[in-house]
Amino acid sequence: MTFRWKVADDGEPALFGVDELLAPERGTGRLSGLEFLHVTAKRVLNQVPEQSRAPFRWTINVYRGCTHACAYCFARPTHEYLGLNIGEDFDRKIVVKLNAVQRVRAELADPRWGGESVAMGTNTDPYQRAEAKYRLTRGVVEALTERANPFSILTKSPLVIRDLDLLAEAARRTEVSVNFSVATLDERVWRATEPGSPHPRRRLDAMAKLAAAGVRTGALVAPVLPRLSDSPTQLRAVVEAVRDAGGDLLGIGPLHLRGAVRDHFLDWLQGFDPLLHADYLRRYADGAYAPKRYAEDLYARAGITDRPTSIYRSTR
Ligand code: SF4
Repeated sequence: MTFRWKVADDGEPALFGVDELLAPERGTGRLSGLEFLHVTAKRVLNQVPEQSRAPFRWTINVYRGCTHACAYCFARPTHEYLGLNIGEDFDRKIVVKLNAVQRVRAELADPRWGGESVAMGTNTDPYQRAEAKYRLTRGVVEALTERANPFSILTKSPLVIRDLDLLAEAARRTEVSVNFSVATLDERVWRATEPGSPHPRRRLDAMAKLAAAGVRTGALVAPVLPRLSDSPTQLRAVVEAVRDAGGDLLGIGPLHLRGAVRDHFLDWLQGFDPLLHADYLRRYADGAYAPKRYAEDLYARAGITDRPTSIYRSTR
């Protein structure tokens, strides 16, 4: 297999220099079936382009690819840039920026760094399974905490509780929020659409622990899938569970189907439910977005009259 570690013949930009590709490692034990592609990154703090509508200007993503393997994941095309495929490669071949902690320490110490808030989990999950082995997110959180640099985390994993003491300390020093993506509590839909992710109830348990420790926490209810997870009963169950856990509701959003993810998701849906596949082809015939009225209506279905004023927009 050839990786696109340097400028490729087709003109794709380099993400890592060829000398920055280190020996890969196969996962063993609970991580068997995974492959970790070790790299050294040139930079870890990433500035979001000016034209982006994302509500954060700086991000850190220490892993590329994500073992949570969500069928709808928007980050899948990032694997294509590396010459890997957006399907199983994205789920199982995880790029690990081994020098992320050293890099972030150097970048935070740079006098030009302005101390802006840093968002983690905007592309791939910072507490995915690889984090149990590499502890890079923990190292980054330590570096941010030492400098009292504000940050936010978005995850689907209760592994974040391993770092509870550290996060509580960070929350005492600066502005911190640790949020969860909880698209549904429906067991069948969760298993089918997020096959590598921890059970959503475990995310809510983690949310309750964070709230009890004084860390601001909440949930992004997205992507809501038409006719799979969008009934009033399903949506109200999530919203009530988030409130019970002491979290804020950050937003409710429908599925988007952009670029290569559209084909990937629709192929998956055809295997899962051919009738639903035909329905989605009609629903998304005009583009990547669900109709605006449908998106607005999700709040009413969830029993929300006061829509959250600040809606966390995830790029994934
Ligand atoms: S949606 Fe998030 S948790 Fe799921 S595979 Fe993508 S990055 Fe991972």
